[in-house]
Formats: sequence, structure tokens, C-alpha cells
Amino acid sequence: MIHARDLTFAYPRAGFALNVSALDVAKGERVGIIGPSGTGKTTLLNLVAGLAQPDTGALKVADHDLTALDDGGRRRFRAAQIGFIFQTFALVDYLNAFENILYPYRVGLGLTLDRDVRNRAQALAEACGIAHRLKSHPNALSGGEQQRVAICRALITQPGLILADEATGNLDPETKEVILDVLFARAAEQGATVLAVTHDHDLLPRFDRVIDFATLRQPAEQTS
Ligand code: ADP
Ligand code: MG
Repeated sequence: MIHARDLTFAYPRAGFALNVSALDVAKGERVGIIGPSGTGKTTLLNLVAGLAQPDTGALKVADHDLTALDDGGRRRFRAAQIGFIFQTFALVDYLNAFENILYPYRVGLGLTLDRDVRNRAQALAEACGIAHRLKSHPNALSGGEQQRVAICRALITQPGLILADEATGNLDPETKEVILDVLFARAAEQGATVLAVTHDHDLLPRFDRVIDFATLRQPAEQTS
């Protein structure tokens, strides 16, 4: 599902450089990534999602060569393949929670919003315990509720690859377990691959494999 070799990406003004020598994730595998903040974990997820372009290196995701796609191609790739749970939720303020969950269908890109999709959104919201909050806008929701909306939005398209960036950081322990049950159950149903960054060591037993980010990442200056 993911094949990366000698990836580099820099934020020159921030003086930050990411270098991933090799990352391979099999289809259906559930992989956790741990590591200190500020080291480039979110940046790596952005590259895998096609939200950022590597400066150099090879990156294939779901049989797409991301280095060969233009902006439009990467957007279509993302809509079709990726469910991204952002660390900062990235909900749309002027839409209510239900509309936020359905957001991928608003953007178009070949996805059709029909009754099945709406029913699936309702079912996801119920499973995540936010069905009673669906008319509320993000600014009226707690952090944990916003996070659950973001998780529902990432799952609504039944993506082949779920990228989760600290997806349980704002949830109390009980809610966290419920939400993870939903996430892993949906992933298993769909045969989806999960790549999840987490600081929560309680979650690690849920993954097939846990990668210490430091073993992937080498500062560019040490490899040149
Ligand atoms: P992590 O997710 O491991 O905490 P990030 O990938 O978010 O790390 O960030 C890695 C480094 O890149 C940090 O030093 C951060 O300040 C910098 N950075 C992240 N996003 C941007 C950006 N959009 N512009 C400039 N620098 C950035
Ligand atoms: Mg991060």
C-alpha cells in the first residue's frame, strides 16, 4: 500500500529537513508510528496523502506514483484512496457536523452523495456517539466531539488507506476505546490499511507493527 524510498522534504525557512530512507506498509496492515513532536511525523503523513510533494525520492501509494501526479491528480488520488484524520481536525466552520462528515462528497471529484452515503454518515455518527450533535457547528462542539466528527469524515468514503494523526489526543479514555473500536472495525471490514501517529502507548497493542519514527527519519545533514 505504501512504498517509500529515500524521501526528502524540507521546510527551508523553518530549517527542517525530513529524510525517510525506507517505509513499506502492506495492504491491510495496521501500523503505528511513535516519536517526539517536531520530528516530522505529520509531514510524513502529508507526503503519503499527497498533500505535500517530496523534494526527492520514490513514493508509491495504492499503486499510484505520487511523484508523477500533478495537483489535480493528487486531489483525485486523495479523494479516492485516503481518509485523513488531521491532528488539528480541519473541520469547516460554516458547516454543521453532519455536513462536515459529508464534506468529501461536496468537493466532488467523482464521489456521489446518495442516500446510502447519508445513512452511512448517520451510522458512523451513532457509533461514535455524536448522533445528537449533528446539527451543531464545530465552534459549538467540544474538542472530543470535533475529533469524532473528523474521524467520521475520514471514514465516510470507505478509503483504502486511513491516515490518523494523533486521532485520539482529545478523547477521554472510555471514548477513546469506543472510537478506536469503530476505526479498526471499519478498517477490517473494508480491508483498509491504517497508518497512525500516536503518543498513546496504551494503543500500541492494537497495531500489527509499531515503528519508532527515529528509525525512519535521518536528518538530511547526517546522510549527505
Ligand atoms: P511532528 O508531527 O512530528 O510533530 P511536523 O511534521 O508537524 O512534526 O513538523 C516538523 C517540523 O516542520 C517542525 O519543526 C515544524 O515546525 C516544521 N513545520 C511543519 N509544518 C510547517 C510549515 N507548514 N511550514 C514551515 N515549517 C513547518
Ligand atoms: Mg504532528
